[in-house]
Amino acid sequence: MNFEEMDIDKRTKKALEMRGFSEATDVQEKAIPFAMKGDVIVQSKTGSGKTLAFLIPVFEDISGRGNEALILVPTRELAQQVEKEARSIAKMYGVKTIAIYGGVSIENQIRNLPASVIVGTPGRVMDLMRRGYLDISKIKFLVLDEADRMLDMGFIDDIRWIISKTNPDRRMLLYSATMPKEIINLAHRYMKNPKKIALSTDTISPKEIKQYYVETDKRDKFRKLVTILRSEKGKYLIFCNTKNEVQYLGRKLRNEKLPAREIHGDMKQGARTRVMNDFKANRVNILVATDVASRGIDVEGITHVINYDVPRYPKDYVHRIGRTGRMKRDGKAISLVTPDDIEFFMRIEDYIGMKINRIDVENGKVEVKKDYRRVADRYGMVPVKFKTNGRIGEMDIIREAEKHGINEDSIGKIEIYGNKGIMKVRYSHVHKVNKMRIFEDVKIGAK
Ligand code: ADP
Ligand code: MG
Repeated sequence: MNFEEMDIDKRTKKALEMRGFSEATDVQEKAIPFAMKGDVIVQSKTGSGKTLAFLIPVFEDISGRGNEALILVPTRELAQQVEKEARSIAKMYGVKTIAIYGGVSIENQIRNLPASVIVGTPGRVMDLMRRGYLDISKIKFLVLDEADRMLDMGFIDDIRWIISKTNPDRRMLLYSATMPKEIINLAHRYMKNPKKIALSTDTISPKEIKQYYVETDKRDKFRKLVTILRSEKGKYLIFCNTKNEVQYLGRKLRNEKLPAREIHGDMKQGARTRVMNDFKANRVNILVATDVASRGIDVEGITHVINYDVPRYPKDYVHRIGRTGRMKRDGKAISLVTPDDIEFFMRIEDYIGMKINRIDVENGKVEVKKDYRRVADRYGMVPVKFKTNGRIGEMDIIREAEKHGINEDSIGKIEIYGNKGIMKVRYSHVHKVNKMRIFEDVKIGAK
């Protein structure tokens, strides 16, 4: 649906237009009409546009007097990000917005209160409330953004305390990427007959994520990874299956002068947050992670997800690669597949219902290769149909093939009928057939 067709304030429409947003995302289309009327619990995956799905309804009820909406978020970065988004709408209304979070001077924040839209982390919000600078007893909206992460980070009691200081008539909007039981409980305890809106959690959009795999032996894995990292600039999230492997790989990459950092469950929250913040701020462009540590990762601009280890559960694969290819940006997912992984990898292909393309990483270069193994017989030989001028024989073909690097061992049976023929070539060499000038036409993989 187009924002223009939505029953929302003209000033909001103007602000969206200025940002270049015309179509509402799925979650926006579904949540906004309900959030304009009452309490909502909205579950929708990261990157789906939840921020506007609560900001738009909030602005429907903004007057510019006193503190009107309090939006709680788990991190400082998110407070800044959401406040910026709010500000772009607020300027059309001529009302104030403010981000309040810890780690910076409190005086500036005090001076800018009250404000129509307050975006804050629970800690600093409570601090300002206790000191008497922030009165939320008359707010109209309480929004919990990234509710699952706030609970993960241990903010549940703070949130309860903050809720208890609001008046019961305020509207409460809860947004989250996942819906664990604690959130449902929280909602039932404090919300008024909330409308539940659930969108898919982990569907992948193959259009936005280009998926590849690289065949490799265990001992070449690291070199191939380094080649990939060196040949394509980007922001990389690399997954290993264990904490030990994460630590080990991080260290090895740094030895190669590749400035990688690690995140895994044995690290203190403070250290994890620092790493995440550095990654978000592009001070670190290679992050090595375990599945668990990646749960909270919603970082803009990840260009590559690398499965250094193939995940053991197809579901994890989908979670991992979903960290890239957010909202209209292209992302790449590359899996390094050793012979031990093939079985798991095939299960992944079954689960996602598609075949993943092979690329080659050799001589320091990454090349997209057509995966001829898939059209090979069980001896690895691929049929090639060809046309000639009708005057060549088997030996001419073998000689021409050798000129292009196809050795005799890689050539199977050759059959010629007049100016047509069929031959078999090993899958790893068959692409070179295209360069053979002896043929007038070739079809690789034709039955
Ligand atoms: P979520 O909170 O669900 O993770 P965000 O609200 O952060 O998602 O939105 C993700 C990205 O999509 C942001 O960069 C945002 O500016 C952009 N975005 C949101 N809504 C739209 C829209 N209707 N059209 C285009 N881009 C949008
Ligand atoms: Mg969000």
